[in-house]
Amino acid sequence: MNVLVINAGSSSLKYQLLDTKSGNVYAKGNCERIGIDGSFVGHEENGGEKQKLEVALPDHKTAIKHVFEILGQAGFDTDKIEGIGHRVVQGGWYFPESKVVTDETLGWVREVAPLAPLHNYAEADVIEICREMFPSIGNVIVADTSFHYGIPEKAHRYALPRDVVDKLHIRKYGAHGTSHRYVWRKTNEFLKGDVHKLVSCHLGSGASLSAIQDGKDMDTTMGLTPLDGLIMGTRCGTIDPATVCYLQREGGYSVDEVDTMMNKQGGMLALSGVSSDTRDIEEAANNGDENCQLAMEMFYYRTSQLIAEMAQSLHGFDTMVFTAGIGENSSSMRLGVAKELEWLGVKIDEEKNSVRSGEPRVISTDDSAVKVLVVPTNEELMIALDVEELLDK
Ligand code: AMP
Repeated sequence: MNVLVINAGSSSLKYQLLDTKSGNVYAKGNCERIGIDGSFVGHEENGGEKQKLEVALPDHKTAIKHVFEILGQAGFDTDKIEGIGHRVVQGGWYFPESKVVTDETLGWVREVAPLAPLHNYAEADVIEICREMFPSIGNVIVADTSFHYGIPEKAHRYALPRDVVDKLHIRKYGAHGTSHRYVWRKTNEFLKGDVHKLVSCHLGSGASLSAIQDGKDMDTTMGLTPLDGLIMGTRCGTIDPATVCYLQREGGYSVDEVDTMMNKQGGMLALSGVSSDTRDIEEAANNGDENCQLAMEMFYYRTSQLIAEMAQSLHGFDTMVFTAGIGENSSSMRLGVAKELEWLGVKIDEEKNSVRSGEPRVISTDDSAVKVLVVPTNEELMIALDVEELLDK
């Protein structure tokens, strides 16, 4: 099935047209600076070179029109697109699994939007536009929180007054669920079913871990929002929650300033003082920058600590997978994290670890107590497979 996958943000829209049977990506691209001066579309076909088209994109509707025009020029008229999959950041309590778009399910995306206002409103608008413009194409909502929705209550409930928590739907929702679900599926396929207790490590500019038992998620490191857990590119991860009150009471910072500090000015950027990109931080650390050295040490420390926490949720683990930008590309960072876990019997084969490849691969030694793999994630394919399954029904 030819599926168009759309990932909309407040001022951006990423798209990918792919075939679910072969996984072949026909075209992909991104509309940037929607509603802002200097908007453009970056587009590439069949793995070719990326073209940059400078076009006015005053709103998401215009951006989608451009995407369909470009796809039409590439030979994919609307009648060749058999379904559209929409990535939704926050599914709240309505999407324990992906769902076909109807008036009701679209309403749910808006109802839970206060939990992720920067994303859900834009995503709901884009879904509505697609339905209006192309009524013959089916749309499916794939929420990034779905995979985590079934984690046990002891893992998702917050120890705050029950009436407040229940009224405001406060709980651990997690994120990156589509990636963790794909990682489980691909690892299970690659290891021919010889995986039961898996800690999936999605380490990119955003980062989270998931504790998965026989395909079912048991816990995850992100919380009510994607701010919790690991130290990320610009997000601080877990800190004492009282810090938020202290910053406001004693520091005089506003709610929005604290929000920005924790989400956009924190993490590796704050620790290194150099960049949010671990490539820059690693280079500076190797050149003797002490703040960058500490940032790397803290990344290894916190990541390994939370891997052990996820393993505890599973009462042990047989497999650990690295994925996303850092997990797939940085052999030194994989090694740095794994070395912290040596006491648990995790052993990396440094030669295997140094191989660069876009394929799933084992990087642990034969006598490692835990099998360690690199499995490139593919959230778009996972979304497209959900579209195929639901629209086929
Ligand atoms: P993602 O969000 O999954 O696209 O990951 C993007 C991040 O991965 C970048 O911001 C970098 O921090 C990191 N990254 C990508 N390639 C490398 C690499 N070779 N070494 C270290 N970090 C990398």
